[in-house]
Amino acid sequence: MKLSRIVAGLPAVVPFVSPDELERDLGYRFAVRVGANESAFGVSPKAVEAMARSLEKANWYGDPSNFELIEALAEKLDVDRERLMVAGGIDELLGLAVRVLLDPGDVAVASHGSYATFAYHVGGFGARLETVLYDDFRNSVDRLAEAAEEHGARVVYLANPDNPTGTLLEADEIRRLMEVLPADCVCFLDEAYSDFLQPKQMLPLDEYSDRLVRFRTFSKAHGMAGMRVGYLLGPPAFVSAIQRVRLHFGVNRTAQVGALASLADDKFIAGVVGEVEEGREEYYALGRELGVETVESSTNFVLFKMADEEEATRVMDELTKRRVFVRTARGDGTRTGIRVTVGTAKERAGFAYELRDTLA
Ligand SMILES: *Cc1c(COP(=O)(O)O)cnc(C)c1O
Repeated sequence: MKLSRIVAGLPAVVPFVSPDELERDLGYRFAVRVGANESAFGVSPKAVEAMARSLEKANWYGDPSNFELIEALAEKLDVDRERLMVAGGIDELLGLAVRVLLDPGDVAVASHGSYATFAYHVGGFGARLETVLYDDFRNSVDRLAEAAEEHGARVVYLANPDNPTGTLLEADEIRRLMEVLPADCVCFLDEAYSDFLQPKQMLPLDEYSDRLVRFRTFSKAHGMAGMRVGYLLGPPAFVSAIQRVRLHFGVNRTAQVGALASLADDKFIAGVVGEVEEGREEYYALGRELGVETVESSTNFVLFKMADEEEATRVMDELTKRRVFVRTARGDGTRTGIRVTVGTAKERAGFAYELRDTLA
């Protein structure tokens, strides 16, 4: 069978090997699953209840316009509903956003080793990704903007707070990026971890709203990664362009009602954020105890900086043997990093025990 030119030219790799796939390859199950930034703190009980009730209506399609969820988001964020689009997580939204803006051959810019699904979609639609180096584990406004200028990029992507580094560019730095980006270049701001920030750390939603697209998810603080639901905020014309290509029944009923209930449960989310803060402090302390530098994080994970790349690989392999699932960062300049999700107190203790032993 003859493949399309674009697909024939793609490498046969996926952005992530999931823990479940790793377990199948390894032939054993992980005891401590802290490698995929999944929430360790469960799902809002209100969301669980709403989702359980919705199962009886699994014979019905979900609402293809995600009306109620969009209405609730518009109210909560105080934005017009025309700026909102819901889909099966940020991963799907990134694909839609790339598809409506990039023609084959167009250029996008991101940091090398940044969140891989963006690069995956850029390639998948035949566009080209140019990368720049992180600056000491932080996205570099200057490098991103220079590369956008140099390559005539249509899109610049950054996660903020960033994955895999955990670092944050404060609102003023995002403003500076928007000021120096070429006027026809759109910025994709992936805010998967926005729930872990204080409101004042974030650029207000009405700034640069004509050329900024912001992506959010129920997968992290809301603990609903398995339900697949997220949203984006963009210019209305961009949002309606997505209407032409999106999968209309892609978000299932159960995910819709679960997200709606979780969105209303501020107390639950505040609890998760508090537990994550505590866990991050514990990881920093573990790093100090073991003489391993950690990167200050605004997310639900912490990057531990090993002495060099070989040591990072050795430690990760050793942890894997000990049934602890973690990941290494994979960008030029970040490969010394081992990324560890903030687990429950018990998971953190399990990870700490095995890391101490591995480094002893
Ligand atoms: C986890 C993560 C995502 C994935 O979000 P989904 O809504 O589950 O697809 C996207 N971007 C970043 C930066 C992430 O860390």
